[in-house]
Amino acid sequence: MAKVTLIRGDGVGPEVIRAAQICLEAAGADIEWEEALAGEAARKEQGSLLPSQTLDSIRRNKVALKGPLTTPVGGGFRSLNVEIRRRLDLYACLRPARFWGSVHSLYKDVDIVIVRENKEDLYAGIEFDIDDEFTGIVKDEIRKRTQQEFSSHTAISLKIISQEEAARIARFAFEYALANRRKKVSCVHKANIIKFSDGLFLKTFYEVAKEYEGKIEANDIIVDNLAMQLVQKPQNLDVLVLPNLYGDIISDLAAGLIGGLGIAPGANLGDGMAVFEPVHGAAPKYAGKNMVNPTATILSAVLMLHYLGQKREAAILEKAVRRVIEEGKVVTYDLRQDRDKNKAAGTQEMAEEIAKKVREIREKD
Ligand code: NAD
Repeated sequence: MAKVTLIRGDGVGPEVIRAAQICLEAAGADIEWEEALAGEAARKEQGSLLPSQTLDSIRRNKVALKGPLTTPVGGGFRSLNVEIRRRLDLYACLRPARFWGSVHSLYKDVDIVIVRENKEDLYAGIEFDIDDEFTGIVKDEIRKRTQQEFSSHTAISLKIISQEEAARIARFAFEYALANRRKKVSCVHKANIIKFSDGLFLKTFYEVAKEYEGKIEANDIIVDNLAMQLVQKPQNLDVLVLPNLYGDIISDLAAGLIGGLGIAPGANLGDGMAVFEPVHGAAPKYAGKNMVNPTATILSAVLMLHYLGQKREAAILEKAVRRVIEEGKVVTYDLRQDRDKNKAAGTQEMAEEIAKKVREIREKD
């Protein structure tokens, strides 16, 4: 039996996590849950937004299923999610974008896997505010070395890309491609303008690509061009590897292509450790309303089952999700043609429907 840390999260988190648990149980997943708190619930009960017990639980169990967490406004962490990824060295973010049968999917033949670098880039959090006295020192130093002039009202955020992390994420993308019988890995960048940091990301990518020559095709795409290709001919794209910020933006774009955030799953992976979570956030305006789509979290749980080696259970659950979405009867508002919230199924009803399909598939097997 696999022991898995369960973090229900903020906003709609508890609802979508409960929905995933119903489906996992129906699929016969061999999981023992260890509940841990993060976010608002943790602050209330344990006095900390990210208690050390929670990180210890993930370190011990090596696998977690997590609901979204609200980023606290004002002090505290920049983002709890970024902090979890950083503290546990979850350097790769995996976000598959496939056609799931949604009526709002713009294409029927999209099957893209986004591999987002998860720790560096503008997410490193090295920033100098407009009124910070240190900003003046940074500007003076830069002015001396580059003759670059600044307005006196300037804020600065640093884009950090290291060769080590660029190599690690490139290798992750190629290994993923090999293990999952994909044909091509494309490096996404803006190295024509951002010559050093994106340049290093790109150069390192091609160095790693040499190790996979003859096995996996490698090419590169400038990020603005990728945005157009995603809309015009996403069928030509396979595995994409991107620095953190482009990865964040492009994964929402890809979610939009397949029918929205409600069906976009994700995983944060490190060496021997993984935290599975939907791409979407805490959607606070829907919290407690039993309205949002549970599919993104259920499909994140499918990714988790694959990771745990529970392949049969993963395949059954995936099949059940596809059937419910294709039938389009017991689905949440975002999967309805008319998006009518009054006629739509609730989060739990849709989860129960998927669980019912899971049981039917298992009985026939
Ligand atoms: P969001 O993803 O929470 O919601 C944006 C909109 O997307 C919603 O209003 C809703 O219309 C739609 N949506 C999201 N999830 C859906 C679902 N399951 N089904 C149907 N529609 C869905 O983004 P936001 O409003 O920008 O962020 C809210 C909070 O969540 C912020 O505090 C943000 O920092 C946090 N956040 C957390 C994570 C994470 O935990 N990994 C990710 C993104 C945002």
